[in-house]
Amino acid sequence: MERELIRIDRNGTKYWKTKPICNRCGGSGVWTNGLSKGICYGCSGGGYKSERIVKEYTPEHEAKLEKRRIERLNKKAKEIAKKTPVKIPKIKQTEIKGNHIGGIGEKVELDVIYEDYKSWETPFGWQGIYILRDLDGNLITWKTSSYLGSEVRRGNKIRIKATVKEHVVNSYKNEKETHVQRVKILD
Ligand SMILES: [Zn+2]
Repeated sequence: MERELIRIDRNGTKYWKTKPICNRCGGSGVWTNGLSKGICYGCSGGGYKSERIVKEYTPEHEAKLEKRRIERLNKKAKEIAKKTPVKIPKIKQTEIKGNHIGGIGEKVELDVIYEDYKSWETPFGWQGIYILRDLDGNLITWKTSSYLGSEVRRGNKIRIKATVKEHVVNSYKNEKETHVQRVKILD
């Protein structure tokens, strides 16, 4: 590399005019791939890249520049922080709705609203599930192969006698669910 000092400013920064050696031909001006040869098109055969000015700082001035650079970055970061509203994280609704009814194995007598019925076929026959709610809105389900018939209508209130089988949490509904069995319709 050829270089020539062209000026020193008041900070002691040296300005070098440089002519870097062509990295394509290594300064020879000739390009070859081992089979054929030609004039290097990186430097048009001159062996050097075009001139450029390179600054050389004194260590003191370089430290000063670095300090300023960091100050600028910090200032910018503060400005961005000011402009960006603080995001309040949304608190996820994790509270589980409802209550379980009775104790496991306990026989209960309840007024319930018959909310829904679903059935599906299994290798052992039809299986159904009755979805009920007590008058406080607590979810009760009864899995059964028996069908109450069409006289029991959705939305109607019925009085049942049942045995509490299980207490579970319905993760889909995020709700406590009481499974009952041996259900008898009283009214
Ligand atoms: Zn070249």
